[in-house]
Amino acid sequence: MKITGITTYVLAADLGASAFGWSQRVGSTRQSAICVVETDAGIQGYGEAFYFGGPSTIVAQLIDLALGPLIIGSDPLDSSVLWDRLYNWTRDQGQKGLTISAISAVDIALWDIKGKALGLPVHKLLGGAYRSRAKAYATGLYEPQGSPNTVHALVQEAQGYKEQGFQGMKLKIGYDPRVDLGYVRAIRDAIGDDVALMVDANHAYNAPEAIRLARELEPYDLAWFEEPVPPEDIDGYVELRAATSIPIAGGECEYTRFGFRELIARRAVDYLQPDLCATGGFTEMARIVAMASAANLPVIPHVWGTNIGLAASLQLFAALPHFPDRRFPTEPWFEYDRSTNPLRDGVTVETFTLEDGYLAIPTRPGLGVTLDLDFVTRHGV
Ligand code: CA
Repeated sequence: MKITGITTYVLAADLGASAFGWSQRVGSTRQSAICVVETDAGIQGYGEAFYFGGPSTIVAQLIDLALGPLIIGSDPLDSSVLWDRLYNWTRDQGQKGLTISAISAVDIALWDIKGKALGLPVHKLLGGAYRSRAKAYATGLYEPQGSPNTVHALVQEAQGYKEQGFQGMKLKIGYDPRVDLGYVRAIRDAIGDDVALMVDANHAYNAPEAIRLARELEPYDLAWFEEPVPPEDIDGYVELRAATSIPIAGGECEYTRFGFRELIARRAVDYLQPDLCATGGFTEMARIVAMASAANLPVIPHVWGTNIGLAASLQLFAALPHFPDRRFPTEPWFEYDRSTNPLRDGVTVETFTLEDGYLAIPTRPGLGVTLDLDFVTRHGV
């Protein structure tokens, strides 16, 4: 089998009145870069790149101009060989960030092809399923725009997730420690003690601020404190982790096994959160998971984007081992983004539905989804 071409699609949607804020800014659009790898066997593979900082066109151009030409004519089943080729050719200026997001999309598409060629879901190729469904937590609870009472709006949203059957949800913090504390207190009060609550500061604080806040948050039984400090501040992570009983999570802004090597070696976090669509795709994720397992450090992937990235992440999630294995192991949490995204569901023919707090993991070949070209073209930039 040979790769005959790569097509990229850039999708964009305005959020209008549904714009939402977090510690860094207010988001008023959603965008996505999706790639389709074509083969001479007629099999197509889909991938998605994670980039939230600006136009997805940039990632698509990396795929179109820099990466695609390097793999056309090659066998898509040689995914590790091709990953190394893409990484090495862009290595000098591309070790982190957008280049790796672009490589991630291509690699995910190659694994989709591999699965379709063999008639197997990607999780079978990764070693099999530890689970057939994913325990989902809702990512949401952003700052609603134009709401006269933010706390009230957040409480209503949180109660809505509980009613939908979510056993966990994640709140955005990092505005100001006083504001954060008020939000956490109100939401914990509204959802009760039986629903897990995570908080995510999107790297808003320095270590002393994060330590002071964490100590005040300790009575609220938080499942984890995500991205408390900037991703480059590994020492800050280590200091915070030593100073609080709240588990610390991070890694969505880290890339490849080379980036995760330091987070793991320094034991900077309690939960590693690599994003499949940013950290290098299935090929690189398998290496990161192997390194994490050697350190007995749980991997709880970051998930964002459309149903393509969601489907790929579910395949990864099925094959994620326990950290550690035991008779009654702790089930990892699957991040299910519930923030407004008009692009999320329409890109695939298949839909995903929460049942009793879980998402079923597709067993169809590859990623188990089909691109809805009409939708993609309609929302294309
Ligand atoms: Ca996050």
